[in-house]
Amino acid sequence: MKFADLGLSDELLRAIDESGYSEPTAIQAGAIPSVLMMRDMIGIAQTGTGKTASFVLPMIDILAHGRARALMPRSLILEPTRELAAQVAENFEKYGKYHKLSMALLIGGVQMGDQIKALEKGVDVLIATPGRLMDLFERGKILLTGCNLLVIDEADRMLDMGFIPDIENICTKLPANRQTLLFSATMPPPIKKLADKFLSNPKTIEV
Ligand code: AMP
Repeated sequence: MKFADLGLSDELLRAIDESGYSEPTAIQAGAIPSVLMMRDMIGIAQTGTGKTASFVLPMIDILAHGRARALMPRSLILEPTRELAAQVAENFEKYGKYHKLSMALLIGGVQMGDQIKALEKGVDVLIATPGRLMDLFERGKILLTGCNLLVIDEADRMLDMGFIPDIENICTKLPANRQTLLFSATMPPPIKKLADKFLSNPKTIEV
């Protein structure tokens, strides 16, 4: 399997080539074509398998056209920790260097002022930890009604950290016909239940 066979744009193939990757990993080969076809997906994969690029790459192409409106992010990636959120942001910068996507990182422990300013400008990609996201939502600084693509990353760690009620709450604020991708290293019953409730006819890829 080659990256060029997955349906990604030429600009993205160039950025991938410059990253030095010669071929897609198993999760990338399985996920990228179905994400590009707007299907819901469950990826059962550990970190180190290349799972971040398996959602970041197709998201860049999906979001390449269209414009973000103030306070209405076009996509949302939920991460359990600030460090993981920052890593995902770095991935968007690396692979998205030939695209003009706007991005905001909403994590705890930093002042809200700049985060609010970014949201007001409009963002294509919002990367957030659940606590800070809910906080800004409750202050009326985010509208999730235009957010058509949701990624719940590291779902089993979200469970360990007690974030599932927040995630359920967030899911109900997004459009019902959005695309949802869920990644988890394991599938304990509460994560299975979350997936049954908030994903529709997902393709499951286990690596
Ligand atoms: P992740 O599982 O997303 O945390 O990625 C693990 C590491 O694999 C990261 O350092 C990536 O830069 C790297 N990586 C991702 N995709 C590929 C690929 N197709 N070929 C080689 N390395 C990759």
